[in-house]
Amino acid sequence: MAQVSVYVPTPYRKHTAGQSTVPADGATVGEALADLCARQPGLGNELFDAQGQLAAYLNVYVDDTEIHSLSGLDTALSGGEELALIPAMAGGSQSVRLLSPSQVERYSRQIILPELGMPGQRKLLASRVLVVGAGGLGAPVIMYLASAGVGTIGIVDGDLVDRSNLHRQPLHREQDVGGSKVASAQRFVTALNPDVSVIAHPVVLERDNALELIGAYDLVVNGSDNFPTRYLVNDACVLLKKPLIDASILRFEGQATVFMPGKGCYRCLFPTPPEPGTVPSCAEAGVMGALAGQMGSIQALEAIKVLLGVGETLANRLLVVDALAGVSRTFRWQRRPDCALCGDHPSQTGLIDYVAFCGSVMPRRGVDAPGAEELSLQDAQARLGSPGVLWVDVRPRAVFAAGTIPGAISMPIDELSGHLEELRRADRVVFFCEIGQKSQVAALVAVDSGIPAANLRGGLLAWQDAHLPWQDKV
Ligand SMILES: [Zn+2]
Repeated sequence: MAQVSVYVPTPYRKHTAGQSTVPADGATVGEALADLCARQPGLGNELFDAQGQLAAYLNVYVDDTEIHSLSGLDTALSGGEELALIPAMAGGSQSVRLLSPSQVERYSRQIILPELGMPGQRKLLASRVLVVGAGGLGAPVIMYLASAGVGTIGIVDGDLVDRSNLHRQPLHREQDVGGSKVASAQRFVTALNPDVSVIAHPVVLERDNALELIGAYDLVVNGSDNFPTRYLVNDACVLLKKPLIDASILRFEGQATVFMPGKGCYRCLFPTPPEPGTVPSCAEAGVMGALAGQMGSIQALEAIKVLLGVGETLANRLLVVDALAGVSRTFRWQRRPDCALCGDHPSQTGLIDYVAFCGSVMPRRGVDAPGAEELSLQDAQARLGSPGVLWVDVRPRAVFAAGTIPGAISMPIDELSGHLEELRRADRVVFFCEIGQKSQVAALVAVDSGIPAANLRGGLLAWQDAHLPWQDKV
Protein backbone atom coordinates (compact mmCIF):
# COMPACT_ATOMS: atom_id res chain seq x y z
CA MET A 1 0.00 0.00 0.00
CA ALA A 2 1.60 3.24 -1.16
CA GLN A 3 1.02 6.57 0.48
CA VAL A 4 0.80 9.64 -1.72
CA SER A 5 0.00 13.27 -1.09
CA VAL A 6 -2.97 14.75 -2.88
CA TYR A 7 -3.08 18.36 -3.92
CA VAL A 8 -6.60 19.70 -3.36
CA PRO A 9 -7.51 22.86 -5.29
CA THR A 10 -9.41 25.71 -3.68
CA PRO A 11 -12.94 24.72 -4.80
CA TYR A 12 -12.65 21.36 -2.99
CA ARG A 13 -10.99 22.53 0.20
CA LYS A 14 -14.32 22.90 1.92
CA HIS A 15 -14.19 19.11 2.18
CA THR A 16 -10.66 19.04 3.61
CA ALA A 17 -10.98 21.63 6.37
CA GLY A 18 -9.08 24.08 4.20
CA GLN A 19 -6.09 21.79 3.73
CA SER A 20 -4.39 22.10 0.35
CA THR A 21 -2.53 18.82 0.68
CA VAL A 22 -3.92 15.64 2.23
CA PRO A 23 -2.61 12.07 2.34
CA ALA A 24 -4.16 9.03 0.65
CA ASP A 25 -3.24 5.36 0.41
CA GLY A 26 -3.54 3.07 -2.60
CA ALA A 27 -1.58 0.89 -5.01
CA THR A 28 -3.20 2.66 -7.95
CA VAL A 29 -4.60 6.10 -8.65
CA GLY A 30 -8.14 4.70 -8.45
CA GLU A 31 -7.50 3.15 -5.03
CA ALA A 32 -5.88 6.32 -3.74
CA LEU A 33 -8.86 8.40 -4.90
CA ALA A 34 -11.27 5.94 -3.27
CA ASP A 35 -9.28 6.19 -0.03
CA LEU A 36 -9.22 9.96 -0.32
CA CYS A 37 -13.02 10.09 -0.72
CA ALA A 38 -13.44 7.76 2.25
CA ARG A 39 -11.31 10.06 4.40
CA GLN A 40 -12.84 13.32 3.15
CA PRO A 41 -16.62 12.94 3.17
CA GLY A 42 -18.31 14.97 0.46
CA LEU A 43 -15.36 14.96 -1.88
CA GLY A 44 -16.56 11.86 -3.72
CA ASN A 45 -19.60 13.67 -5.08
CA GLU A 46 -17.29 16.30 -6.54
CA LEU A 47 -14.86 13.88 -8.17
CA PHE A 48 -17.17 11.16 -9.49
CA ASP A 49 -20.45 11.29 -11.36
CA ALA A 50 -23.56 9.22 -10.57
CA GLN A 51 -22.17 6.28 -12.55
CA GLY A 52 -18.96 6.32 -10.55
CA GLN A 53 -16.98 7.74 -13.46
CA LEU A 54 -14.36 10.37 -12.88
CA ALA A 55 -15.97 13.72 -13.68
CA ALA A 56 -15.18 14.89 -17.18
CA TYR A 57 -14.26 18.39 -16.02
CA LEU A 58 -11.58 17.01 -13.74
CA ASN A 59 -8.02 16.11 -14.61
CA VAL A 60 -5.90 14.00 -12.31
CA TYR A 61 -2.13 14.29 -12.43
CA VAL A 62 0.58 12.07 -10.99
CA ASP A 63 3.66 14.23 -10.49
CA ASP A 64 2.63 16.57 -13.29
CA THR A 65 1.56 13.88 -15.79
CA GLU A 66 -2.13 13.57 -16.59
CA ILE A 67 -3.34 10.01 -15.89
CA HIS A 68 -4.87 9.53 -19.37
CA SER A 69 -1.35 9.55 -20.76
CA LEU A 70 -0.44 6.93 -18.14
CA SER A 71 -2.83 4.09 -17.35
CA GLY A 72 -5.78 6.13 -16.16
CA LEU A 73 -7.19 5.10 -12.78
CA ASP A 74 -5.13 1.92 -13.00
CA THR A 75 -1.86 3.86 -12.97
CA ALA A 76 0.33 2.17 -10.39
CA LEU A 77 1.69 4.12 -7.43
CA SER A 78 4.88 3.26 -5.62
CA GLY A 79 4.51 5.82 -2.80
CA GLY A 80 5.67 9.38 -2.40
CA GLU A 81 4.06 10.65 -5.57
CA GLU A 82 1.93 13.70 -5.60
CA LEU A 83 -1.57 13.45 -7.02
CA ALA A 84 -3.14 16.69 -8.11
CA LEU A 85 -6.84 17.21 -8.75
CA ILE A 86 -7.34 19.94 -11.31
CA PRO A 87 -10.92 20.87 -12.17
CA ALA A 88 -11.93 23.27 -14.90
CA MET A 89 -12.43 26.67 -13.34
CA ALA A 90 -14.19 29.72 -14.65
CA GLY A 91 -12.23 32.94 -14.78
CA GLY A 92 -12.04 35.27 -11.87
CA SER A 93 -10.18 33.21 -9.36
CA GLN A 94 -6.52 32.40 -9.65
CA SER A 95 -6.57 28.99 -11.27
CA VAL A 96 -4.44 26.30 -9.79
CA ARG A 97 -1.71 25.42 -12.21
CA LEU A 98 0.96 22.85 -12.36
CA LEU A 99 4.55 23.82 -12.73
CA SER A 100 5.66 24.29 -16.30
CA PRO A 101 8.80 22.44 -17.45
CA SER A 102 10.81 25.66 -17.23
CA GLN A 103 9.56 26.21 -13.68
CA VAL A 104 10.54 22.68 -12.70
CA GLU A 105 13.97 23.39 -14.15
CA ARG A 106 14.24 26.80 -12.46
CA TYR A 107 13.32 25.52 -9.00
CA SER A 108 14.73 22.00 -9.32
CA ARG A 109 17.45 22.48 -6.68
CA GLN A 110 14.92 23.49 -4.05
CA ILE A 111 12.08 21.21 -5.20
CA ILE A 112 14.27 18.21 -4.40
CA LEU A 113 14.41 19.33 -0.77
CA PRO A 114 11.94 17.09 1.08
CA GLU A 115 10.74 20.11 3.09
CA LEU A 116 9.70 21.85 -0.11
CA GLY A 117 8.82 19.49 -2.95
CA MET A 118 6.22 20.27 -5.61
CA PRO A 119 3.53 21.23 -3.07
CA GLY A 120 5.91 23.63 -1.35
CA GLN A 121 6.89 25.24 -4.62
CA ARG A 122 3.25 25.71 -5.53
CA LYS A 123 2.64 27.23 -2.12
CA LEU A 124 5.44 29.73 -2.69
CA LEU A 125 4.13 30.62 -6.13
CA ALA A 126 0.70 31.27 -4.61
CA SER A 127 2.11 33.34 -1.71
CA ARG A 128 1.86 37.09 -1.29
CA VAL A 129 4.59 38.82 0.70
CA LEU A 130 4.90 42.53 1.47
CA VAL A 131 8.43 43.88 1.86
CA VAL A 132 8.59 47.18 3.71
CA GLY A 133 11.55 49.12 2.36
CA ALA A 134 13.68 48.32 -0.69
CA GLY A 135 16.89 49.27 1.11
CA GLY A 136 19.75 47.41 2.78
CA LEU A 137 17.57 44.62 4.19
CA GLY A 138 14.78 44.82 1.64
CA ALA A 139 17.14 44.37 -1.31
CA PRO A 140 18.39 40.87 -0.37
CA VAL A 141 14.92 39.92 0.90
CA ILE A 142 13.36 40.83 -2.45
CA MET A 143 16.14 39.18 -4.44
CA TYR A 144 15.90 35.85 -2.59
CA LEU A 145 12.11 35.75 -2.36
CA ALA A 146 11.86 36.49 -6.07
CA SER A 147 14.45 33.89 -7.03
CA ALA A 148 12.69 31.29 -4.84
CA GLY A 149 9.46 31.92 -6.72
CA VAL A 150 7.31 33.73 -4.16
CA GLY A 151 4.59 34.57 -6.64
CA THR A 152 3.51 38.02 -5.50
CA ILE A 153 5.87 40.47 -3.86
CA GLY A 154 4.58 43.85 -2.77
CA ILE A 155 7.25 46.48 -2.22
CA VAL A 156 6.47 49.64 -0.30
CA ASP A 157 9.08 52.40 -0.31
CA GLY A 158 8.62 56.09 -1.03
CA ASP A 159 12.34 56.75 -1.28
CA LEU A 160 14.57 57.50 -4.23
CA VAL A 161 17.84 55.72 -5.01
CA ASP A 162 20.83 57.62 -3.67
CA ARG A 163 24.40 56.81 -4.71
CA SER A 164 25.21 56.16 -1.04
CA ASN A 165 22.67 53.27 -1.11
CA LEU A 166 24.53 51.26 -3.75
CA HIS A 167 27.19 49.68 -1.50
CA ARG A 168 24.50 47.69 0.35
CA GLN A 169 21.46 47.57 -1.94
CA PRO A 170 22.44 45.53 -5.01
CA LEU A 171 18.90 45.77 -6.39
CA HIS A 172 19.72 49.29 -7.48
CA ARG A 173 22.43 50.21 -9.93
CA GLU A 174 24.35 53.31 -10.91
CA GLN A 175 21.86 54.23 -13.63
CA ASP A 176 18.97 54.01 -11.11
CA VAL A 177 20.32 56.87 -8.95
CA GLY A 178 17.63 59.53 -8.56
CA GLY A 179 14.81 57.17 -9.56
CA SER A 180 12.22 55.46 -7.42
CA LYS A 181 13.56 52.53 -5.37
CA VAL A 182 10.40 50.57 -5.97
CA ALA A 183 10.77 51.03 -9.73
CA SER A 184 14.35 49.76 -9.86
CA ALA A 185 13.43 46.86 -7.55
CA GLN A 186 10.60 45.98 -9.91
CA ARG A 187 12.92 46.10 -12.94
CA PHE A 188 15.36 43.79 -11.16
CA VAL A 189 12.73 41.20 -10.26
CA THR A 190 11.11 41.23 -13.71
CA ALA A 191 14.47 40.55 -15.30
CA LEU A 192 15.26 37.81 -12.75
CA ASN A 193 12.08 35.74 -12.64
CA PRO A 194 9.01 36.02 -14.89
CA ASP A 195 6.97 33.95 -12.40
CA VAL A 196 6.92 36.79 -9.89
CA SER A 197 4.56 39.70 -10.07
CA VAL A 198 5.72 42.77 -8.21
CA ILE A 199 3.13 45.13 -6.82
CA ALA A 200 4.82 48.51 -6.54
CA HIS A 201 3.77 50.85 -3.74
CA PRO A 202 5.94 53.97 -4.24
CA VAL A 203 4.64 55.56 -1.06
CA VAL A 204 5.73 55.94 2.54
CA LEU A 205 3.95 53.45 4.80
CA GLU A 206 1.87 55.53 7.16
CA ARG A 207 -0.91 55.27 9.67
CA ASP A 208 -3.45 56.12 6.94
CA ASN A 209 -2.43 53.42 4.46
CA ALA A 210 -0.78 50.69 6.58
CA LEU A 211 -3.81 48.52 7.34
CA GLU A 212 -5.06 48.51 3.76
CA LEU A 213 -1.62 47.80 2.31
CA ILE A 214 -0.61 45.08 4.76
CA GLY A 215 -4.09 43.53 4.72
CA ALA A 216 -3.59 42.42 1.12
CA TYR A 217 -0.65 40.12 1.92
CA ASP A 218 -0.02 36.79 3.71
CA LEU A 219 3.15 37.88 5.49
CA VAL A 220 5.25 41.00 6.00
CA VAL A 221 9.03 41.41 5.97
CA ASN A 222 10.20 44.54 7.73
CA GLY A 223 13.23 46.24 6.23
CA SER A 224 12.49 49.71 7.57
CA ASP A 225 15.27 51.84 9.00
CA ASN A 226 13.50 54.02 11.56
CA PHE A 227 11.58 53.49 14.79
CA PRO A 228 8.24 55.08 13.81
CA THR A 229 7.90 52.75 10.82
CA ARG A 230 9.08 49.75 12.84
CA TYR A 231 6.34 50.27 15.44
CA LEU A 232 3.76 51.08 12.77
CA VAL A 233 4.48 47.84 10.87
CA ASN A 234 4.41 45.84 14.10
CA ASP A 235 1.12 47.31 15.25
CA ALA A 236 -0.57 46.86 11.88
CA CYS A 237 0.59 43.22 11.71
CA VAL A 238 -0.71 42.50 15.22
CA LEU A 239 -4.08 44.10 14.43
CA LEU A 240 -4.33 42.17 11.14
CA LYS A 241 -2.85 38.92 12.59
CA LYS A 242 -0.10 38.74 9.95
CA PRO A 243 3.26 37.05 10.58
CA LEU A 244 6.09 39.60 10.61
CA ILE A 245 9.75 38.90 9.88
CA ASP A 246 11.81 41.62 11.53
CA ALA A 247 15.47 42.58 11.32
CA SER A 248 17.67 45.58 11.88
CA ILE A 249 21.30 46.42 11.26
CA LEU A 250 23.82 48.98 12.47
CA ARG A 251 27.55 49.13 11.92
CA PHE A 252 28.65 45.48 12.26
CA GLU A 253 25.70 44.24 14.28
CA GLY A 254 22.44 42.70 13.15
CA GLN A 255 19.27 41.50 14.86
CA ALA A 256 16.48 39.30 13.52
CA THR A 257 13.35 37.73 14.94
CA VAL A 258 9.91 36.50 13.86
CA PHE A 259 6.60 37.66 15.28
CA MET A 260 3.82 35.11 14.83
CA PRO A 261 0.21 36.15 15.51
CA GLY A 262 -0.67 35.52 19.15
CA LYS A 263 2.93 34.77 20.14
CA GLY A 264 4.08 38.27 20.99
CA CYS A 265 5.16 41.34 19.11
CA TYR A 266 7.87 43.96 18.79
CA ARG A 267 6.34 45.80 21.75
CA CYS A 268 6.76 42.66 23.89
CA LEU A 269 10.45 42.74 23.01
CA PHE A 270 10.90 46.53 23.13
CA PRO A 271 7.84 48.21 24.74
CA THR A 272 9.11 51.72 23.98
CA PRO A 273 11.65 53.12 21.55
CA PRO A 274 14.98 54.49 22.75
CA GLU A 275 15.26 58.22 23.43
CA PRO A 276 15.56 60.12 20.16
CA GLY A 277 19.17 60.60 19.20
CA THR A 278 20.54 57.81 21.40
CA VAL A 279 20.59 55.22 18.63
CA PRO A 280 22.26 56.58 15.53
CA SER A 281 21.01 55.83 12.03
CA CYS A 282 23.04 54.01 9.37
CA ALA A 283 23.65 57.38 7.67
CA GLU A 284 25.27 58.61 10.88
CA ALA A 285 26.95 55.48 12.21
CA GLY A 286 27.59 53.49 9.06
CA VAL A 287 26.77 49.93 8.06
CA MET A 288 28.42 47.16 6.07
CA GLY A 289 26.66 46.03 2.91
CA ALA A 290 27.55 42.38 3.37
CA LEU A 291 25.96 42.41 6.84
CA ALA A 292 22.76 43.86 5.36
CA GLY A 293 22.93 41.01 2.86
CA GLN A 294 23.35 38.45 5.62
CA MET A 295 20.47 39.71 7.74
CA GLY A 296 18.17 40.22 4.74
CA SER A 297 18.99 36.73 3.59
CA ILE A 298 18.01 35.39 7.04
CA GLN A 299 14.72 37.27 6.75
CA ALA A 300 14.02 35.76 3.33
CA LEU A 301 14.73 32.28 4.70
CA GLU A 302 12.50 32.82 7.74
CA ALA A 303 9.72 34.10 5.47
CA ILE A 304 9.95 30.97 3.33
CA LYS A 305 9.93 28.73 6.44
CA VAL A 306 6.81 30.47 7.74
CA LEU A 307 5.07 30.26 4.35
CA LEU A 308 5.86 26.54 4.06
CA GLY A 309 5.34 25.76 7.74
CA VAL A 310 8.68 23.96 7.98
CA GLY A 311 11.53 24.00 10.48
CA GLU A 312 12.05 26.03 13.62
CA THR A 313 11.54 29.67 12.86
CA LEU A 314 13.04 32.51 14.87
CA ALA A 315 9.63 33.06 16.51
CA ASN A 316 10.22 34.11 20.14
CA ARG A 317 13.96 34.11 19.59
CA LEU A 318 16.10 37.14 18.87
CA LEU A 319 19.14 36.36 16.74
CA VAL A 320 22.00 38.78 17.35
CA VAL A 321 24.89 38.72 14.90
CA ASP A 322 28.16 40.40 15.88
CA ALA A 323 29.82 40.34 12.49
CA LEU A 324 33.06 41.92 13.64
CA ALA A 325 33.58 39.28 16.33
CA GLY A 326 32.19 36.53 14.10
CA VAL A 327 29.71 35.50 16.78
CA SER A 328 25.96 34.85 16.59
CA ARG A 329 23.75 34.30 19.60
CA THR A 330 20.02 33.77 20.11
CA PHE A 331 18.03 35.06 23.05
CA ARG A 332 14.61 33.73 24.01
CA TRP A 333 11.79 36.20 24.50
CA GLN A 334 8.14 35.74 25.38
CA ARG A 335 4.86 37.45 24.76
CA ARG A 336 4.27 39.90 27.62
CA PRO A 337 0.83 39.52 29.20
CA ASP A 338 1.04 43.25 29.96
CA CYS A 339 1.88 44.24 26.36
CA ALA A 340 -0.06 47.38 25.44
CA LEU A 341 -0.97 45.89 22.07
CA CYS A 342 -1.00 42.08 22.19
CA GLY A 343 -1.27 41.57 25.96
CA ASP A 344 -4.18 40.10 27.89
CA HIS A 345 -5.77 43.53 28.40
CA PRO A 346 -4.46 45.69 25.57
CA SER A 347 -4.71 49.45 26.04
CA GLN A 348 -4.01 50.07 22.38
CA THR A 349 -6.63 48.88 19.90
CA GLY A 350 -5.68 50.79 16.78
CA LEU A 351 -2.81 52.59 15.10
CA ILE A 352 -1.39 55.65 16.86
CA ASP A 353 0.73 58.73 16.10
CA TYR A 354 4.14 57.10 15.68
CA VAL A 355 6.10 60.30 15.27
CA ALA A 356 4.83 61.49 18.65
CA PHE A 357 5.32 58.02 20.19
CA CYS A 358 8.92 57.74 19.04
CA GLY A 359 9.74 61.44 19.28
CA SER A 360 11.42 61.28 15.90
CA VAL A 361 10.38 62.02 12.37
CA MET A 362 9.20 59.41 9.96
CA PRO A 363 10.58 60.12 6.50
CA ARG A 364 7.41 60.93 4.62
CA ARG A 365 7.68 61.11 0.93
CA GLY A 366 5.80 59.52 -1.91
CA VAL A 367 7.51 59.66 -5.26
CA ASP A 368 4.65 61.82 -6.50
CA ALA A 369 4.69 64.12 -3.49
CA PRO A 370 6.19 67.56 -3.97
CA GLY A 371 9.83 67.47 -3.04
CA ALA A 372 12.09 70.00 -1.40
CA GLU A 373 14.52 71.98 -3.52
CA GLU A 374 17.98 70.42 -3.74
CA LEU A 375 20.63 73.13 -3.62
CA SER A 376 23.90 72.67 -5.44
CA LEU A 377 27.03 73.92 -3.68
CA GLN A 378 27.12 76.96 -5.96
CA ASP A 379 23.48 77.90 -5.34
CA ALA A 380 23.93 77.37 -1.63
CA GLN A 381 27.08 79.46 -1.46
CA ALA A 382 25.31 82.27 -3.35
CA ARG A 383 22.70 82.40 -0.58
CA LEU A 384 25.21 82.40 2.23
CA GLY A 385 24.67 85.62 4.19
CA SER A 386 21.45 86.63 2.39
CA PRO A 387 18.88 88.03 4.79
CA GLY A 388 15.84 85.87 5.35
CA VAL A 389 17.71 82.62 4.70
CA LEU A 390 17.95 80.42 7.79
CA TRP A 391 20.65 77.75 7.77
CA VAL A 392 19.72 74.73 9.89
CA ASP A 393 22.22 72.08 10.93
CA VAL A 394 20.25 68.89 11.73
CA ARG A 395 23.24 66.91 13.06
CA PRO A 396 23.56 66.16 16.79
CA ARG A 397 24.45 69.23 18.91
CA ALA A 398 27.89 67.94 19.84
CA VAL A 399 29.10 67.80 16.25
CA PHE A 400 27.43 71.14 15.49
CA ALA A 401 29.40 72.73 18.33
CA ALA A 402 32.65 71.49 16.83
CA GLY A 403 32.10 73.37 13.58
CA THR A 404 29.49 74.22 10.96
CA ILE A 405 28.48 76.64 8.22
CA PRO A 406 28.80 80.24 9.47
CA GLY A 407 25.55 81.62 10.91
CA ALA A 408 23.78 78.24 11.06
CA ILE A 409 21.57 77.23 13.97
CA SER A 410 21.44 73.76 15.51
CA MET A 411 18.23 71.77 15.29
CA PRO A 412 18.85 68.02 15.57
CA ILE A 413 16.47 66.18 13.28
CA ASP A 414 14.72 64.43 16.15
CA GLU A 415 13.66 67.80 17.56
CA LEU A 416 12.44 69.17 14.27
CA SER A 417 8.76 68.35 14.57
CA GLY A 418 8.53 70.34 17.83
CA HIS A 419 10.20 73.44 16.37
CA LEU A 420 8.53 73.93 13.02
CA GLU A 421 6.90 77.18 14.18
CA GLU A 422 10.31 78.82 14.71
CA LEU A 423 11.23 78.01 11.13
CA ARG A 424 8.16 79.73 9.72
CA ARG A 425 9.66 83.14 10.51
CA ALA A 426 12.37 82.66 7.89
CA ASP A 427 11.75 83.42 4.21
CA ARG A 428 13.59 80.28 3.32
CA VAL A 429 15.22 77.45 5.29
CA VAL A 430 18.27 75.53 4.08
CA PHE A 431 18.78 72.22 5.89
CA PHE A 432 22.07 70.40 5.95
CA CYS A 433 23.78 67.41 7.63
CA GLU A 434 26.86 65.29 6.96
CA ILE A 435 25.89 63.94 3.57
CA GLY A 436 22.58 65.58 2.72
CA GLN A 437 20.38 62.60 3.51
CA LYS A 438 18.89 63.35 6.94
CA SER A 439 18.58 66.99 5.94
CA GLN A 440 16.66 65.90 2.86
CA VAL A 441 14.13 64.27 5.18
CA ALA A 442 14.07 67.41 7.33
CA ALA A 443 13.45 69.58 4.26
CA LEU A 444 10.59 67.32 3.19
CA VAL A 445 9.02 67.48 6.64
CA ALA A 446 9.26 71.27 6.50
CA VAL A 447 7.83 71.45 2.96
CA ASP A 448 4.97 69.22 4.07
CA SER A 449 4.24 71.79 6.78
CA GLY A 450 4.19 74.61 4.24
CA ILE A 451 7.66 75.97 5.03
CA PRO A 452 9.78 76.93 1.99
CA ALA A 453 12.75 74.65 2.52
CA ALA A 454 15.74 73.40 0.60
CA ASN A 455 18.35 70.74 1.17
CA LEU A 456 22.09 71.16 0.74
CA ARG A 457 22.95 68.39 -1.70
CA GLY A 458 26.01 66.40 -0.68
CA GLY A 459 25.95 67.94 2.79
CA LEU A 460 28.95 69.17 4.75
CA LEU A 461 31.25 66.58 3.24
CA ALA A 462 30.83 68.21 -0.16
CA TRP A 463 30.89 71.68 1.40
CA GLN A 464 34.23 71.09 3.10
CA ASP A 465 35.66 69.30 0.07
CA ALA A 466 35.03 72.51 -1.87
CA HIS A 467 36.72 74.58 0.88
CA LEU A 468 33.65 76.77 1.35
CA PRO A 469 33.30 79.10 4.40
CA TRP A 470 33.51 77.32 7.75
CA GLN A 471 33.07 78.33 11.38
CA ASP A 472 35.32 76.24 13.58
CA LYS A 473 33.61 76.43 16.97
CA VAL A 474 30.11 77.55 17.87
ZN1 LIG B 1 3.14 42.52 22.24
